[in-house]
Amino acid sequence: MIIALDGPAASGKGTLARRLAAHFGLPHLDTGLLYRATARAVLDAGERLDDERRAVEAARGLALTDFDEARLRGAEMGEAASVVAAIPAVREALADMQRAFARRPGGAVLDGRDIGTVICPEATAKIFVTASPETRARRRALELAGRGEKIDYNEVLADIRKRDARDSGRSSAPLVAAADAVVLDTTALDVEGALAAALRIVGARAGD
Ligand code: C5P
Repeated sequence: MIIALDGPAASGKGTLARRLAAHFGLPHLDTGLLYRATARAVLDAGERLDDERRAVEAARGLALTDFDEARLRGAEMGEAASVVAAIPAVREALADMQRAFARRPGGAVLDGRDIGTVICPEATAKIFVTASPETRARRRALELAGRGEKIDYNEVLADIRKRDARDSGRSSAPLVAAADAVVLDTTALDVEGALAAALRIVGARAGD
């Protein structure tokens, strides 16, 4: 069984993906980390994020195991990731490892922006996780504060709106719900409520 979760930044899809993976005993891939690690590698090499050749090289050089999450999770790297993610050749370079992960025996849970539309159009269940920008900004601000980052709510909200616009407006694999995805709005839900709703969606799809 492949479960695809897509949605904008801080919609709750990552938490939901981890919980679903634990529930079903499936491996989980946070595909945002691939774009974050690509951006990190480009910056570490002193190159520009919009240098296509360097960004593709960085994407091809990634190994699923060498992710230092502490260096990748911050707000700055989310923004940088969305710049390299708009380069079609970078997306192409990262597609095979995502597909290979999804197609392991038994299946997997993947979360990102284009899992249900591009990476795994054949997924058993597709959930498009969303929430209001203000709710997402509050969650992200709490998460970043918990990580010790200095944050300003209005800056976090502005960053989320900017990333939404870049991810939705790009020509290559824009953020959009697959036609057969179920939209799950988590604005008024806590984690347990969102998990219960997601389990109902997966249960209905898996039984089809
Ligand atoms: O999900 P996360 O915030 O870690 O993603 C960082 C950025 O990586 C997103 O804003 C998006 O531009 C890009 N991304 C993507 N496709 C994915 C996952 C992430 O374009 N499947």
